Amino acid sequence: MPSGEYDPETVERQWQERWVEEDLYAYGDGVVDPDTVFSIDSPPPTVSGSLHWGHVYGFTLQDFVARYNRMQGKDVFFPFGYDDNGIASERLTEDELGVRHQDFGRREFQEKCREVCARYEEEFTEKMQNLGISIDWSETYQTISPEVQRTSQLSFVDLYEQGREYRQRAPAIWCPECETAISQVETEDDEQDSHFHDIAFEVVEDDVGLPETFTISTTRPELLPACVSVFVHPDDDANEDLVGNHARIPLFGQEVPIIEDERVDMETGSGVVMCCTFGDQTDIEWYQAHDLDLRIAIDESGTLTDVAGEYAGLDRDEAREAIVDDLDDAGALLDRRAITHTVNVHERCGSSIEFLVTEQWYIELLDKKEEYLEAGRQMDWYPEKMFTRYRNWIEGLQWDWSISRQRSSGIPFPVWYCAECDEEIVADREQLPVDPLSDDPPVDHCPECGHDDLVPEDDVFDTWATSSLTPLINAGWDWDSEREEMVIERPELYPMDMRPQGHDIISFWLFHTVVKCYEHTGEVPFESVMINGMVLDENRVKMSKSLGNIVSPDEVLEQYPVDAARYWAAGSAVGDDLPYKEKGLRAGERLMRKLWNASKLVDDLTPEKRLSRPDLRAIDRWLLAELDDRIETVTGYFERREFSKARDSLRSFFWHTFCDDYLEIAKQRLRDGDDPSAAYTLQTAHRRFCKLFAPILAHVTEELWRDMYDGGSVHTADWPDPLGVEADLAAGERAMDVVGALRKYKTDHQLSMNAGVDAVRVYGDVEAFADDIERVMHVGELESVDEEPPVESVVTGIDLDYSLVGPEFGNRVSDIEAAIAEGDYEVVDGRLHVADAELDAAMFEVEEERQYAGDGEMVEAGETVVIVRN
Ligand SMILES: [Zn+2]
Ligand SMILES: [Zn+2]
Repeated sequence: MPSGEYDPETVERQWQERWVEEDLYAYGDGVVDPDTVFSIDSPPPTVSGSLHWGHVYGFTLQDFVARYNRMQGKDVFFPFGYDDNGIASERLTEDELGVRHQDFGRREFQEKCREVCARYEEEFTEKMQNLGISIDWSETYQTISPEVQRTSQLSFVDLYEQGREYRQRAPAIWCPECETAISQVETEDDEQDSHFHDIAFEVVEDDVGLPETFTISTTRPELLPACVSVFVHPDDDANEDLVGNHARIPLFGQEVPIIEDERVDMETGSGVVMCCTFGDQTDIEWYQAHDLDLRIAIDESGTLTDVAGEYAGLDRDEAREAIVDDLDDAGALLDRRAITHTVNVHERCGSSIEFLVTEQWYIELLDKKEEYLEAGRQMDWYPEKMFTRYRNWIEGLQWDWSISRQRSSGIPFPVWYCAECDEEIVADREQLPVDPLSDDPPVDHCPECGHDDLVPEDDVFDTWATSSLTPLINAGWDWDSEREEMVIERPELYPMDMRPQGHDIISFWLFHTVVKCYEHTGEVPFESVMINGMVLDENRVKMSKSLGNIVSPDEVLEQYPVDAARYWAAGSAVGDDLPYKEKGLRAGERLMRKLWNASKLVDDLTPEKRLSRPDLRAIDRWLLAELDDRIETVTGYFERREFSKARDSLRSFFWHTFCDDYLEIAKQRLRDGDDPSAAYTLQTAHRRFCKLFAPILAHVTEELWRDMYDGGSVHTADWPDPLGVEADLAAGERAMDVVGALRKYKTDHQLSMNAGVDAVRVYGDVEAFADDIERVMHVGELESVDEEPPVESVVTGIDLDYSLVGPEFGNRVSDIEAAIAEGDYEVVDGRLHVADAELDAAMFEVEEERQYAGDGEMVEAGETVVIVRN
């Protein structure tokens, strides 16, 4: 039986351990019915020992959905993955062991990663368990494991055979800092300080009427050695004479054609622009459309090449300064002015990107943008507005997905090439996972030309190429060599019911998962998507090391119960950012205490189990009918993932209607003697509150439930359905208002709550509740009359709207105020006549008070008038 103060420290730890020991959240072996399954594609965090708010907040919201659906009778599949094949875990392993990955074979290094990560994973698992997240810990995966590598390589082979992948030597987005190709999604815009340089280009031809020079404006003079042409817009009358001639590039001397093209932005600079291979996306388009020369002036590391002559070997930033100085000396620098502009940078390192002609593997995207958009439309979005981000991403897509990364560790491409004819040789599916650097190709000779020198691909996959497969990893997508087809071992899990994730990775994780799973299975991988916001600091500012405003969840959870944090996490609309507020945790603690104390009282008042329903008194029927109503509302909120509404609606009903109003009444009735109706109602309502609070306050409800009821877990109990109890809800609420008003009357008159009151007359129907009110409030006689109360409204003052009165009446306002204070005014036809002025209805409000002149004292109970005679 619950007794004493609630001790969350002991209780929470105890349940966290028991839930794991009992496998309470196990998905189970024999589940096959997709209609009863609720599968969650939970995000695999990057491995590190520390927990941040993103984990706490995101996983807690997922846990609300998991627990709610479990109670709705679903077989909930709530797995946990570790994303440990990325750069983060590579670095972690290098730091931890004091090694460099380059010094090992790929497999060898991956084994080291697995060892190091396993330790961190254990620690992280414990932290997740300490949050009370109802994950099935027998359903875990690691993206670096051989099984997942196999899935990832199978995905490559499948898309290759479908013709959705191609290898191409072409300009690719490149990070010179990380020295690898990257994809569009890994780039972001950054506002940077820079300079605009106006540079004079000479016209080669000296025809009559042609200018000798023209001006090019650029932020990147270091690209001059890569300049291959100059462009003019066809509508640009001022510069049309230049077209068809040639320009000589200052300092470097190459002569380039002047061509017209509609892609020129006439608004920028002189309207004449240079095309370099490559400064931006348009340069790539021009290069391809006009079959221009290729002059590569910047290499993989951002260093200038021999094409740049004396500047070769300089870093691109040094080269810029040197070239600008020399242009100035040569008289070709006409102007230089500071600007801030948007630069495309690599989101991981912040370094500005380049476009390099390199050979990379791509997954085709651009031909199916509309299909992927439609796939997005087929999912239910919580909140709906987040679909816009998905749509905007697809609409802005300009590149196919480059999946090659020039890194030494990661999941390898299962591919070799013929040294003679460049034929692509892909591993057999049975062979996977393979590492072409250490494994043999599936054939001895090139099937095309018979040559026997087969060269392994040494690039690895983009990490998103693997993490975009999580629904298929979870569902057991694999190659069945007997049936010679891809099969899904647990088909009931797929498509998955929910993909929860942060809004910052809609373009990375969600989009790529939709693409891959859709192409592999022909199905949209998720029924629904739930997007969570970020946790901000108390002033709604993003937490960051540089601002020093980071609050560590580990420290917070040393001070506060996990249930308090869960209560706080339920405090925002899904998708919105949530500020960390201690106030929110303290409110959670207060609710836990209230629930605990109310439970003790219920337990104390109703020592016997009352399972069958007796004849119910009106007030008990009313409470249960109100609760029915609230259950429907709260259930709707949980269905729509409106956690804060669910939490607040439940809390206010429990706190005010149940504890403040009903429980007090039931307490008196039960202390007065046996009252089966009150006992049944108390227990029934209490059981239901435990269940309704269980998804949010997972620990305290479990403690109460197991202690007071059947010994099983509240988390596997059924979600309550309405009982279907009929009652006059309005009359019941009125009766509660009357009780409240009589309490206030007693307090105002310094009477004890047990003091008798001679007679009470209620102007409103509370007939069915009269006995209960009499008994609880010790009223001699209560009369309920259904007629207008004998009260009149008296004007007590005027409330001016100064935003209108001030501008209109200026310095006469003080006269108006004085007259109102004196009561020297009149309202005629909705207009106020005061101090020789006339005010419109919009400018004031009449304050009124209800006054009663009969016997006894009037007390107001909401809308209802109550007369007390004592
Ligand atoms: Zn980078
Ligand atoms: Zn060949």
